[in-house]
Amino acid sequence: MQGILTKLIGGFFFVADSEKNIYKCSIRGRIQETIYPGDYVEINKEELTIEDFYPRKNLLKRPKIANVDQVIIMHSLKKPEFKASLLDRFLLLVESSGFEPLIVINKIELADDDYKSQFEDYKKAGYQLHFISVKEELNFEPLLKKLDKKVNVLTGPSGVGKSSFLNKIIKDADLKTASVSKKLKKGVHTTRMVELLSLENKGWIADTPGFSSMSKIDLEIEAENLSWYFPEIAQFNNSCRFNGCSHIHEPGCKVKEKIESGEISKKRYDNYKEIYSELKEKEIRY
Ligand code: GDP
Ligand code: ZN
Repeated sequence: MQGILTKLIGGFFFVADSEKNIYKCSIRGRIQETIYPGDYVEINKEELTIEDFYPRKNLLKRPKIANVDQVIIMHSLKKPEFKASLLDRFLLLVESSGFEPLIVINKIELADDDYKSQFEDYKKAGYQLHFISVKEELNFEPLLKKLDKKVNVLTGPSGVGKSSFLNKIIKDADLKTASVSKKLKKGVHTTRMVELLSLENKGWIADTPGFSSMSKIDLEIEAENLSWYFPEIAQFNNSCRFNGCSHIHEPGCKVKEKIESGEISKKRYDNYKEIYSELKEKEIRY
């Protein structure tokens, strides 16, 4: 029978079938490969052993999760105040690792009516955006639909409401206390256990350690490739006068033209420039 590995504890592998029944298995010695939550495995239901595993489509590095369908980047409108430059870095991290991002903005009940205008740039760039309030459970339904039948990973700065969100949407009360408790999360000496948490529907969601500041996230991108991860800039990457134009100082730059005309967001471009010079600096240092 095929199942998905949800977690590993004390040498046991917890495998869920398509109905989300859980089998606590051990592994056949001949399987040399390390397997991670999200991996599809073949189990023997009688002997409760993992017999084999299937090729994975991708592997998230930190934490290690296999077959990730999408990464939910949660930020809040207020408390902490929304910061576009921070969201842009999270987007870069997700996109440069080859994953599909989905932006969720929380705490909308704290905002003025026209809060959405500051996100136009992201919509125009083609990103999926959801605006929710975990506290008041606003707009959960369309978002939960997007998570259905997928392996989702939740990330974002700390304090934006990730644990609160998980506590509301995950199915199993035991799982909740085990995985989302602050003690586990903030404990210095506990190694954080990675696991797929069960959503009400057919989907799964995994938490990631919170990032208090982006300095902890090392963007492994070369400055030359940065523009490919800004979709609204990338579409003009081959339209400039010079091949491999950095869109910063070269003449005949299409991107700069599009910024003049307002087609590309100046704010996003400014973030692009800032990150570009940061990456350049890093290249010089090493
Ligand atoms: P995490 O660090 O991202 O996991 O954030 P937490 O879930 O620990 O939430 C941080 C704080 O924000 C807590 O005090 C929550 O009660 C609060 N919070 C979470 N969601 C909302 C929301 O929708 N509105 C408001 N006003 N506060 C929220
Ligand atoms: Zn250019």
